[in-house]
Amino acid sequence: MAQFSITRTTNPTSDAVRNAALADPGFGHYYVDHQVVIDYVGGDGWQDPRIIPMGEWSLHPAAATLHYGQEIFEGLKAYRRDDDSIWLFRPDRNAARFVGSAQRMGMAPLPEDLFLDSVNELVTLEKSWVPVSENEQSLYIRPFMIASEPYLGVREANNYRFAVIATPAGPYYSEPVKLWITPNYTRSAPGGTGTAKCGGNYAASLVATQEAAENGCGQVLWTDGAEHKWVEECGTMNIMFVTADGELVTPSLGTILAGVTRESILSLATMHDLKPVERPISIDEVLDGVDSGQIPEVFACGTAAVVTPIVGFNSPGRGVQQVGDGQPGPKTQEIRKHLVDIQYGRAEDPFGWTK
Ligand code: PMP
Repeated sequence: MAQFSITRTTNPTSDAVRNAALADPGFGHYYVDHQVVIDYVGGDGWQDPRIIPMGEWSLHPAAATLHYGQEIFEGLKAYRRDDDSIWLFRPDRNAARFVGSAQRMGMAPLPEDLFLDSVNELVTLEKSWVPVSENEQSLYIRPFMIASEPYLGVREANNYRFAVIATPAGPYYSEPVKLWITPNYTRSAPGGTGTAKCGGNYAASLVATQEAAENGCGQVLWTDGAEHKWVEECGTMNIMFVTADGELVTPSLGTILAGVTRESILSLATMHDLKPVERPISIDEVLDGVDSGQIPEVFACGTAAVVTPIVGFNSPGRGVQQVGDGQPGPKTQEIRKHLVDIQYGRAEDPFGWTK
C-alpha cells in the first residue's frame, strides 16, 4: 500500500453547500475538495504520492501533452449502498486498461496497485461526496495522466503526471437514443489508437457527433475505418444486439474500447437466457435484422449510462429505421436492472465485482 501525504484544504466545502450540490449534482459541475497527484520522473520512477486541495496546477507551455496529445484517462464510479457503505465496481479492470492505454501512447505505465490505492484514498477521504443511491446517483472518478515534460521535439516524454479527481453524478436515466451511421468519419483503424482511452480519440469524435445531431440522432454509430461496413461501437459506449434466436451479439475486440460494462454484461447474459456472442457484425446485417425483426432490441453500454436503449438508426443509404416498437425492450431493461442492482449491492454479486 503506497503512503500518501495529505495536505488538507483550508477552505473545505460546508455541509450545507455540499448537500445542496448533492441534491442536484448534474455531471461535472462540482468537484470533491481534494485530488490525488503522483509525478513520474524519468529514471526515478513514480514519486511522492500525495493528496492536495482541488485546484489548478501550473504547467509549462511546452509540456508535451499540450502539443502532441500524450494523455490518457479512465472513468469509474463509487456507489453508496442503502447501509451507507461505499463500493467500487471492478476498479481492477480500469487499472489494467490504464496500463494498456499508457503502453499504446508510449507513456510510463502506472502500476495497477498504485492506481487502485489512489482511487481508494480519494474516495475514503471524500466519502461525504458520494451521493445517496436514490435514482442511481454516484461519485464519478476520473483518473488521468499527461506528459508533463517541457520539450518540443516529437518523442515520448520523460516526465508524466498522474492525477485523480472526482465529481458527483446525478441520476442517469439513459434516455433512449437514435444512432447516426456516418459516411464521413471513423474513430479507429487497425493499428490505430481506438483501443486506448486517450483524449485524442474523443477530440476526433466531436465533429461526427455534431453531424449526428444535424441528422436527428443523439450519437454516432462508429463503423470500421477501412470499409465503413462493420459495426464497432457508438458514441462513448459499446453496442449490443439481442437477436430473435436468443443471442446477445457484440462486435469482437480489436479496434474498439474494451468496456468494463461490455465485459460484465457478456458474463451476465446466460442468466437472462441469452447466449453471449462476440463476432464481427455488419451494418447491413444490423439494418436488415432491425427491419425483419431478427434484431428486436439494441442497446449501448458504458459506465456513465450503464445501459442505453437504442431505438432507431439513421443513415444516408437507408434513412430512418426504428428498432422494434421504438421503446426500450424487455431484455435491455432486465440486464440494466441486474447490473445496477449488483453495483448498489441489491443483487448477489456472483463474480465478486464490487470492491
Ligand atoms: N467505448 C468508448 C469509446 C468509451 O469511451 C467508453 C467509456 N469508457 C466505453 C466504450 C465503455 O467503457 P466502460 O464500460 O468501461 O465505461
